[in-house]
Amino acid sequence: MTSMHRRSVPPPLVVGPSSSLPTEHGTFTIRSFTHNGITHAVMSMGSPEKRDAPLVRVHSECLTGDALGSHRCDCGDQLTAALAAIAASGHGLLIYMTQHEGRGIGLAAKLQAYALQDGGLDTVSANRALGLPDDARDYDAAAAVLRELGCPRIRLLSSNPSKQEALEALGIEVASRVRLPVADRPENSRYLMSKRLRMNHDVPSHLEEELSAVPSTRQARHEPPIGSHLPLNGRDVYDILSDEAEVVAQLAQSQDGFIATSTGDACFVSGRTDRTHLHRVRASVGAVLVGAQTVIADDPQLTVRAVEGENPVRVVLDPRGRVPTESTVLRTGPAATLWMIGAEATVGSDVGDHVRVVRLPPMGAGETAAPQTVIALIRERVPGSILVEGGGRTVSRFLSAGVLDRLFLTTAPVFIGDGVPGIRFEGSEVMAQALRTPFRRFELGEDICTEYLLSPAAVEHSSQAPVPNSVTVGSTPSTG
Ligand SMILES: [Zn+2]
Repeated sequence: MTSMHRRSVPPPLVVGPSSSLPTEHGTFTIRSFTHNGITHAVMSMGSPEKRDAPLVRVHSECLTGDALGSHRCDCGDQLTAALAAIAASGHGLLIYMTQHEGRGIGLAAKLQAYALQDGGLDTVSANRALGLPDDARDYDAAAAVLRELGCPRIRLLSSNPSKQEALEALGIEVASRVRLPVADRPENSRYLMSKRLRMNHDVPSHLEEELSAVPSTRQARHEPPIGSHLPLNGRDVYDILSDEAEVVAQLAQSQDGFIATSTGDACFVSGRTDRTHLHRVRASVGAVLVGAQTVIADDPQLTVRAVEGENPVRVVLDPRGRVPTESTVLRTGPAATLWMIGAEATVGSDVGDHVRVVRLPPMGAGETAAPQTVIALIRERVPGSILVEGGGRTVSRFLSAGVLDRLFLTTAPVFIGDGVPGIRFEGSEVMAQALRTPFRRFELGEDICTEYLLSPAAVEHSSQAPVPNSVTVGSTPSTG
């Protein structure tokens, strides 16, 4: 670089012309802005200046994480999740702060600190050993461009309370801070723990509080409640389940693969966030199916309570007519219930008016109804997607029969040791024949939810962009 024209009073902020930037998350508008001689970039989608508090990510440049795919930090995952979140909401800004490398110490010093971390120091101690500050970033340029673009009030996409405080000190009103729930990776969990323990970053359980504060299903959907380990390019999964007719299953199990203790106690294997997710799935499907044993053991209601939304039709799969008529689903509304019993089974008639008995076709002794038959019988009566909610045996049978499009399998960080098994089916002899499918992974509070895309239809539905345009998708909640 050669000499520059020096003006006596350089303008504090120069915003460059807009151009379009198609990305895997959607088409953004990108502009440069130069503040005190340093040029940064701002990506925008929709009309954030017309929103009360648009989503904003103030992202610090990280060459290794953002561009080189490093797993040493979570910057790349945060960047991807932020762009996906803004695209899902339809309106927002990503301010890409150059010269914020290594929390402001620069690339050379950051790599020097990495070398010290390889020797055993954590991220904070390494900076201090080099005589460098823990965090040398300032946000003057970000605050200036937010004001210039008409967004003085924002929802900040960040796990870092200090970033919120810094922006607030510069006159930006942070209506709320939305944590991007990217999953820890084995290589960076120590680094992320250091940031949580020593730099006051949020711990993942904060996500639960945010989710419980979300008032409605539709709003929650567009607040990206679940972040993806992989880029979430496609439509919101709850919208997919509402719009399509998939067969989806859900199961929460312990780390060692049990859904309840040996006495049947399943309260609670997974946490509140997983329960919210389950209720959102219920609110998105036409029917929810459980096996007889689940009704006998747990006496569930199978209604939508943790979020707003309509109850699905409840289906009790009970070939031998074992479910007692006093059970909640047979005794009480508010949702219609299909009681699927064997052709020969005899059952009591003292059930609520909301119950319809559906006879399964005759089966041989010891046989159970084929999952394909069960799905067809439900489809004749209920439109929309079908949720197979439990228990372990029922979900396993539907999985191994190949009728599931999608499976949400949540693993909680708990060991039960022995108990009611989760997924079990006739195993393959060699690993090459084991069931592998595309998957996405979500952090739900303390739990990890893996979403398996089991059918070509599920893969296709999940990779479709949120079209016709994400603006329509994002504007739904606040205008509704
Ligand atoms: Zn990084």
